[in-house]
Amino acid sequence: MLAMDYRGPYRVRATQKPDPVIEHPGDAIVRVTSACICGSDLHLYHGLVPDTRVGTTFGHEFVGVVEEVGSQVHKLKVGDRVLVPFNVFCGSCFYCDREMYGNCDNTNAEASAVGGIYGYSHTAGGYEGGQAELVRVPMADVGPTIIPADIHEDDAVLLTDALPTGYQAAEMGDIQEGDTVVVFGAGPVGIFAAKSAWLHGAGRVIVVDHVEYRLEFVKNYANCEIVNFKEVDDMALHIKKMTDWMGADVCIDAVGCEAAGNAVQTLTGRYMKMQAGSATALHWCINSVRKGGNVSIVGVYGPTFNAVPIGNALNKGLTLRMNQASVKRHVPRLIEHIRAGHIDPKQIITHRVPLEEVADAYHIFSSKLDDCIKTILVPPNAHQVRAVEASVTKH
Ligand SMILES: [Zn+2]
Ligand SMILES: [Zn+2]
Repeated sequence: MLAMDYRGPYRVRATQKPDPVIEHPGDAIVRVTSACICGSDLHLYHGLVPDTRVGTTFGHEFVGVVEEVGSQVHKLKVGDRVLVPFNVFCGSCFYCDREMYGNCDNTNAEASAVGGIYGYSHTAGGYEGGQAELVRVPMADVGPTIIPADIHEDDAVLLTDALPTGYQAAEMGDIQEGDTVVVFGAGPVGIFAAKSAWLHGAGRVIVVDHVEYRLEFVKNYANCEIVNFKEVDDMALHIKKMTDWMGADVCIDAVGCEAAGNAVQTLTGRYMKMQAGSATALHWCINSVRKGGNVSIVGVYGPTFNAVPIGNALNKGLTLRMNQASVKRHVPRLIEHIRAGHIDPKQIITHRVPLEEVADAYHIFSSKLDDCIKTILVPPNAHQVRAVEASVTKH
């Protein structure tokens, strides 16, 4: 099969690899029809995630058609159209029982924090990802959701990570009616967090970034105010000025470890690797939120330390909440929001690139060229697979 192949920092290619096979009776093999590149794939691409091994395939946001199932798979059958959450999870451990699917205890032998994630290094279990023609899906009765016939493939693929992560960011902010919510980061997750903030009752939503085309997009898409941080001297002061000197009720970090905007953080985190990337957005969250406010973090940080102003958080009496999204928990509600017309996820898709051109696709996304917001990789023959599937559904 054709698959994306990691060759080292800033080097990826499309190459032929052996087809995945059923390794356990609970596995399924899924033929991928769309796979996104995620902002967090760029952390891998830039060499910031430990134990990212050469020769592995990235991709934790994919949908496709079930090609084969193991003998213990009962809920899926060959030909089902499925969306597969980025979390690999067992559904029955202590954490899964509490719907903390991102923290499953049985799917990542390498760590005691995060559970398994498709295509996200051996620190997240070493699973092969979905930027490929085929992917092995372990515990196939647990993770995948059959895509309802009325849900568009482009919406479905955004339900595997970006939309539920943005939605959970708003949920963890514990937004009260009328709250002022500031979202740092206007990438796909930040865009969906801003949109979700309204669904959680926000009275005012402000999005901060420095990429002008993304700010323009989110202003229209999420009907929010925007701030370009390059035009601001002191972010915390600026947010205070905008909020009658209170600060925001809720701040959301939808950036993570590659934040721009602070020279010292960029130098120590991204260039010298003295900390696990730059934590500028998190600093801004802690310093821009009002006393007693909530900070919600969904931007990805690595397992090693970051310099965080914890004293400010303590003295202001903040509540900090953070986690990898528990995708499966949000999918039913988000499907209802899509059906009700509250949110149209596919509008954020700007690029559709053949899997063969994966190297170009990463470069365009990484360098924010061509007004790129979200890229879908399309494996060879995906159109035929979709067409066959559609005609089967019709009859
Ligand atoms: Zn993602
Ligand atoms: Zn589990």
